[in-house]
Amino acid sequence: MPTSVQNQILRVNLSNGRIWTEKPGISFFRSHLGGRDVIAHYLLTEIPKGSDALDPVNRLVFAMGPVTGIALPGAGRHSVGAKSPLTGLFGESEAGGYWGSELKQAGWDGLVIEGKAETPVYLWIKDQVVEIRDARHLWGQVTGPVEARLREELGDTQVRVAQIGPAGENLVRYACIVNDLNEVAGRTGLGAVMGSKNLKAIAVRGSHRVEVSDTLPIKTTARWVARETLGEGGAHHRLHTWGTGAMVRSKQLEGHLIVRNFRDGQLDHATDIDAITMQNKVVDHMDRCFACSVRCKKRVKIDTEQVKVEPKYGGPEYETLAAIGTNTGITDIMAVCKGNEMLNYLGLDSISAGATIAWAMEMAETGRFAAQGLDEESLRFGSPKSVLDMIEKIAYRQGVGDLLAEGSLRAARIIGGDAEKYVVHVKGLEVAMHDPRAMKDMRDNYPVTPTGGDHTGAGLKRTSVRNTVGLCQFLQYNDAKALELLNAATGWDMTPEELHETFERGLTLARLFNLREGMTADDDRLPDRMHEPIRMGPLNNHILSRSEIRDYVAGYYEERGWDKEHGRPYTDTLAHLNIDIDEHDVANLTSERPAPLAVGALPYTLSLDDSNGHEE
Ligand code: SF4
Repeated sequence: MPTSVQNQILRVNLSNGRIWTEKPGISFFRSHLGGRDVIAHYLLTEIPKGSDALDPVNRLVFAMGPVTGIALPGAGRHSVGAKSPLTGLFGESEAGGYWGSELKQAGWDGLVIEGKAETPVYLWIKDQVVEIRDARHLWGQVTGPVEARLREELGDTQVRVAQIGPAGENLVRYACIVNDLNEVAGRTGLGAVMGSKNLKAIAVRGSHRVEVSDTLPIKTTARWVARETLGEGGAHHRLHTWGTGAMVRSKQLEGHLIVRNFRDGQLDHATDIDAITMQNKVVDHMDRCFACSVRCKKRVKIDTEQVKVEPKYGGPEYETLAAIGTNTGITDIMAVCKGNEMLNYLGLDSISAGATIAWAMEMAETGRFAAQGLDEESLRFGSPKSVLDMIEKIAYRQGVGDLLAEGSLRAARIIGGDAEKYVVHVKGLEVAMHDPRAMKDMRDNYPVTPTGGDHTGAGLKRTSVRNTVGLCQFLQYNDAKALELLNAATGWDMTPEELHETFERGLTLARLFNLREGMTADDDRLPDRMHEPIRMGPLNNHILSRSEIRDYVAGYYEERGWDKEHGRPYTDTLAHLNIDIDEHDVANLTSERPAPLAVGALPYTLSLDDSNGHEE
């Protein structure tokens, strides 16, 4: 029976040059699907406890989903994971574009890289033929020229390239992996892991169509998405027309735009960088990921005497507009577009870069950076020059950029005093540009997501399912639709209950990894700033209490089958999810579920009156 799962993981050891194929079996893919669950499996079983994230033993895992690469809008997603050099915990990030689909079309469901090459190399994957090639001539270059050079060298303009920029080479702890020049696996510093392995790029070309078991539901869904994109008022029409930048205006109106290191909820002139301004001033055209008719990706072109921005590097999404725009107090659209281009050619995560710069600006404003010889002028809220200079300095670890390249939490601990109190992070990962004080989803997501302050980090079910199946979060597919597409692609007869179990399995595996690496329940919380009121805007009297978050987290543990106090999975939860304690060496990280009390020992009297004590 045709199926989208190919049962092939490509394995590469860069220390000894060994390349081999692993076939984990279809039952492995059915129980782990892809994305986070596959990554968690490899991190738990193959990385020794306590290893440094930049040590060659770390595994860099590229995990496709079962639907990645099929002819369906939103199916161009893949995940990348490793132990994070930023958080020291479970690291994972997702990307769109074409690279993941191309790897699937080359016949691979995943790629796991270990070891470290002696000198810079790149991987060349042409269907089932895989080579490790010299990349010394590419080292030190930014992403655009590297992609062009590789395509020329390999004699194929359709080669897809995932790569690191100078930031990854310089082990910036939030360096990203850039594919197709404008799509990134941005969060948790995976570019630094790639850099630590002396791996500059992975070039891929696949010549096979990914098979599916049943084409009809997939074609019907693709037609529905196309209709909903083109029709005014359709489910995807707004996204297609404006892209993610539309959020700047709505958040500004509602008072939870991310402004000046999360202090304020509104910013004067914020609409100067919103989607309407972008369409009028800088957008060249809208582009898409593999097979997606929504086309929500902006390509920006600027060609003035002062600023030049090339469309090949895409355009700023909402996260970037907020991270290096409003969060640093900037409303200069030219500067934000230039900054976005720099982040993509240098290979830096825009969220962590912007958040770290914004934190540093607050430190400079309040004199806490004086010992570093920095004054408010060199790191000033609202100064485009400060932001653009700092992006460059961080990527090359120059001057104060070397300190900020460590990420805001490590930098705060280095400068000492009370600097850490102002870092907006969860588990060491800078919080994404959605304020949990105003958004319940984020309030529920940030404290418990295994990666930390990540808005797509899959602490919740909807994001988890899409992450592991390989679907874009923006497509209006509900859980039933995601399941229908998964079954149509694979030929499985998965039920909603079985799909739910994969969600629980992935979260529990990632939890075990984090517990093993020293995380405690105390890390499942929001940063101090989230318990202060938003300083400016209509939500300025709204306070999020610490007890509200603690109670939510305890309830979340219980729902997962983890103990309420420490968040350690119960042994019966692991048994139910078929997680092998011995294989994962996690016996000491689990809890025994308290035995239910015998009926006769109930510490209260059962009442047969169901009126709950109320008298009529
Ligand atoms: S909706 Fe946008 S981000 Fe998602 S797959 Fe389509 S083009 Fe890519």
